[in-house]
Amino acid sequence: MRLFEVLEAHRYGSVHLCTDERTGLRAVIALHNTKLGPAIGGTRALRYREEEAAIVDAVRLARGMAYKAAISGLPHGGGKAVIMLPEREFDRTALFERFGEFVDSLGGRYVTCEDSGTSTGDMDVIATRTRQVLGTSKGSADPSPFTALGVRRAMEAIVRYKLGRESLEGLHVAVQGVGHVGYHLVKEVTRLGARVTVADTSAQATERARSEFNAEVVSTDEILFTQCDILAPCALGAVFNDVTIPKLRTGMIVGASNNVLAESRHGDALRARGILYAPDYVANAGGLINVATEHSPGGYNREDATAKVMGIYETVLNILQRAEREDVSTHVVADRIVDEMIF
Ligand code: NAD
Repeated sequence: MRLFEVLEAHRYGSVHLCTDERTGLRAVIALHNTKLGPAIGGTRALRYREEEAAIVDAVRLARGMAYKAAISGLPHGGGKAVIMLPEREFDRTALFERFGEFVDSLGGRYVTCEDSGTSTGDMDVIATRTRQVLGTSKGSADPSPFTALGVRRAMEAIVRYKLGRESLEGLHVAVQGVGHVGYHLVKEVTRLGARVTVADTSAQATERARSEFNAEVVSTDEILFTQCDILAPCALGAVFNDVTIPKLRTGMIVGASNNVLAESRHGDALRARGILYAPDYVANAGGLINVATEHSPGGYNREDATAKVMGIYETVLNILQRAEREDVSTHVVADRIVDEMIF
């Protein structure tokens, strides 16, 4: 792999590696950009077959965090850590203690939190070695309700812009995936008078949405193509692609999933079909905004976090207005705004 070429393509920053024979730690920390402040982003702990894959994952994901943090107005750059879990038996506590020392060695340039394969308990262990960790059991807890609140605010902004309405009342929202975020999102929008259709591979998840919020349930094959006002992908990435876009029957897309456009050109394809898209990393930043509030000088405060998440409304509205002025797709404008801030 030509690592420097990968870094240059992502307009990097720096990448830090750490190995430790005693604990079996092999970890990567990628710092995309620290112009706006310490890089923030979760720690993934997975088994990777190829170390290159672990490095590229960290690099790619840290870039995503940089864009999400900047567009959300956070005083943070983007970072990401990847721990390649040992194949052999290992002591998880010792591993995360050593990883905490690695985080600490970066002198406050990287602040970590939970991600795939790590837990609040792991963050507690990291916290025994560094202060540069958020989302411990003493911290801001489950990000999902905040992510859902942010998605709801992004919906309100897009509805205001497209339909000139102040409320979601009477609108039909189709939600793909009613897991942690999807469940709270359905709760939010039905409380505001929207009608909801859901799908999930878990019958338990759909049954909960049906019984608690009177959601209509359709199959996972149908949900993306449901006739609705707003489609909310809250399960998987890359759902908007050459196959799905021609068959969509929605006017607006706002959801929690990351990387929903299979490729950047699919954002233009949505626009060509007259479908207004709230860029994923803008709409789904509520969880990050919440956890980042722990790092603010006064410490975590739920009211402050909620107020900041509510601000996603203005961020989305600004993007929609600028996209119209500059005659480009919304995902292009979001990236443009961030590029102006961090480069
Ligand atoms: P989750 O795993 O709790 O929920 C995802 C749900 O999607 C599950 O219930 C799963 O059964 C369902 N699902 C899987 N495949 C499906 C399919 N083909 N069709 C329909 N449903 C399917 O995850 P989550 O925490 O709710 O996150 C949802 C998405 O939002 C993920 O892509 C995640 O990366 C993203 N996200 C989450 C947060 C957060 O705060 N949790 C923040 C930002 C982004």
